[in-house]
Amino acid sequence: ATRVRIAPSPTGEPHVGTAYIALFNYLFAKKHGGEFILRIEDTDATRSTPEFERKVLDALKWCGLTWSEGPDVGGPYGPYRQSERKDIYKEYVDRIVDNGHGFRCFCTPEQLDEMRAAQRAAGKPPKYDGRCLSLTAEEVTTRMNAGEPSVVRMKIPTEGSCKFVDGVYGEVDIPWDAVDMQVLLKADGMPTYHMANVVDDHLMKITHVARGEEWLSSVPKHILIYQYLGLEPPVFMHLSLMRNADKSKLSKRKNPTSISYYAALGILPEALMNFLGLFFMQIDEGEEMLTMDQLAERFDPENLSKAGAIFDLQKLDWLNGRWLREGISETEFVARVLAWAQENDRFGAGMRLAQSRITKLSDLPDLTGFLLKGDLGLTAADFAGIKKVSLEDVLRILQEVQPALETVFEWNAESVEAELRAVSERTDIKLRNLLAPLFIAVSGSSRSLPLFDSMAILGRSVVRQRLKQAET
Ligand code: ATP
Ligand code: GLU
Repeated sequence: ATRVRIAPSPTGEPHVGTAYIALFNYLFAKKHGGEFILRIEDTDATRSTPEFERKVLDALKWCGLTWSEGPDVGGPYGPYRQSERKDIYKEYVDRIVDNGHGFRCFCTPEQLDEMRAAQRAAGKPPKYDGRCLSLTAEEVTTRMNAGEPSVVRMKIPTEGSCKFVDGVYGEVDIPWDAVDMQVLLKADGMPTYHMANVVDDHLMKITHVARGEEWLSSVPKHILIYQYLGLEPPVFMHLSLMRNADKSKLSKRKNPTSISYYAALGILPEALMNFLGLFFMQIDEGEEMLTMDQLAERFDPENLSKAGAIFDLQKLDWLNGRWLREGISETEFVARVLAWAQENDRFGAGMRLAQSRITKLSDLPDLTGFLLKGDLGLTAADFAGIKKVSLEDVLRILQEVQPALETVFEWNAESVEAELRAVSERTDIKLRNLLAPLFIAVSGSSRSLPLFDSMAILGRSVVRQRLKQAET
């Protein structure tokens, strides 16, 4: 039976790219009467958080995707969270080492840095040079017994190339020379993505691996791990990444990429899935509006383009408009609006903040409208009148604040305030002056609701977009 999966790493705001790959797998399973499962890839303990895991599950559910196995619903091949499978991987890594396909490496981070720097200086791509391959079994045992930290790396053939057929790219040929002696087991005993991914796809009986094109160059390592373990690899399909209109890779530096941004804007999940689903089929003009079931019927994985899926915001808006007008009933529409206003307590929290700041209820739309809006469409003129802050200062403030806010771990009024105070101290810009242009960028006005609370209600991705928009 066909079994496919989405395997998100809970290391950031859920990405529309994850929804795009998840939708492909979901439709693939539906088309073939197979299973779609969800696995959390949290082997990177420093970047993975339970908060992001909850968000990615919520975001995919919001999209209307459902899985038959996963960390929240269980299933026969669990646990579905890699951090809970540490002991399982150990056995497979041992097998690779015992069969002579892997080796212990004691190189320190400093040694590895030097190695890579020397290779770069010689104009070569940085790669592990294999120095620990020559250690004898006795040396390895002695150093391990002495408690010296070490990792396990995989051996790579010294000549020839890895040939395989990709479901999208067709025949691929990657010389082994271009493949690094990948770390399989980290010093802390956790497997790397590559090791855990292969073992889990095997144990979870995954038949087809469909994922982003950025993983194509990892396939030789994965195929080798399957071979070393005597296992049959699944079918690989690498989907072209979504691109901005200028063909560059969709990236949050250019376009909002988090699912929550589109949800906050009032894009319907049906419209987002419809929009993403159209990348997986050939459709005639006039037939674009499709439900999930229709998408599954028309889904055509043989007919994907390698040119890249252009994330055309105008098309998304257009489809969303059609969904609002034609796709849902009046009753359903009202229910959606109410649900949208309650999300993040956008409406209620706005009211509570406004209560002490108005003289009559009719002042509310002007004061709280910015919490419900999309783009504020501000220009330099909106920032021109700030006391003691020139337009140059505004620009500098926006440039200082944006990367700082990216480091905020949990997004709430207190953490945002703490971060902005830290920027003020670091840059010697008075807090008042620092906040004045942010007020305008976030709310569109210099007299508005308290800034930190407003930023918390708007959420990270909307604030990111408003600050970026203000800068340009
Ligand atoms: P950004 O460039 O916006 O910072 P990123 O590449 O850092 O994005 P990640 O957090 O690494 O994004 O990726 C999250 C998930 O989204 C990954 O599974 C990745 O495959 C997918 N993804 C990222 N960018 C794209 C894209 N342009 N098209 C499709 N999928 C993408
Ligand atoms: N955890 C990887 C990611 O987030 C999964 C890649 C794969 O599907 O193999 O992109």
